[in-house]
Amino acid sequence: MSTEYVIDPPAQASVAVAGTDARFPVRRIFCVGRNYAAHAREMGHNPDREAPFFFTKPADAVVDDGAAIPYPPETRDLHHEIELVAAIGTGGFRIPVERALDHVFGYAVGIDLTRRDLQQVAKDKGRPWDWGKAFDRSAPCAAVQPVADIGHPNKGRIWIAVNNETKQDADLAELIWTVPEVISICSHSMELRPGDLIYTGTPAGVGAIPPGSTLTGGIDGVGTITIEIRQPV
Ligand code: MN
Repeated sequence: MSTEYVIDPPAQASVAVAGTDARFPVRRIFCVGRNYAAHAREMGHNPDREAPFFFTKPADAVVDDGAAIPYPPETRDLHHEIELVAAIGTGGFRIPVERALDHVFGYAVGIDLTRRDLQQVAKDKGRPWDWGKAFDRSAPCAAVQPVADIGHPNKGRIWIAVNNETKQDADLAELIWTVPEVISICSHSMELRPGDLIYTGTPAGVGAIPPGSTLTGGIDGVGTITIEIRQPV
């Protein structure tokens, strides 16, 4: 007998998968802070190779490529952060670096949308980052490209433009902590499960998105993403 619920259970959050109508179910979203030296510096931090730290977003913060979303509430400083996203297909706990890539189903181009003003208040007051990072529709994610099709990208241009003006332009090879290192380190604190997404950090050049903007970004060998940020509702 199937479980009955007192309210309708939430729909399964998911992202598209290239080459198929089947979708990738999203369980959790982990995000790495400060994983490119130049971005660490622009945020006022020492880019030395200190251990990576993580924050999370709700699974249903994902937004498909091509979507138009309203400028989020309670902010005057919405920022773009273009990121390589690793989609975990096989779970694991305390995964060794050498085995980490075996756990990846595929990769996608994602944007870690950030209410920078609210994040700054949180930093100043020692509060959680959630209101700056984990708000509704804060995790646009283009179609996942299966490893079977594209392998494991570890170099190549990563970029984003706001209204066709390039703002972030770097190379995946500049990641301070590589994808296998990030997966291994995360899995020592959290048992990774199928459906987890890991946003691997953003390069320098983050900045404000005016309401009514179009974001276009991409990663060589992974794909592109286009998101329209409409006026606030
Ligand atoms: Mn980020």
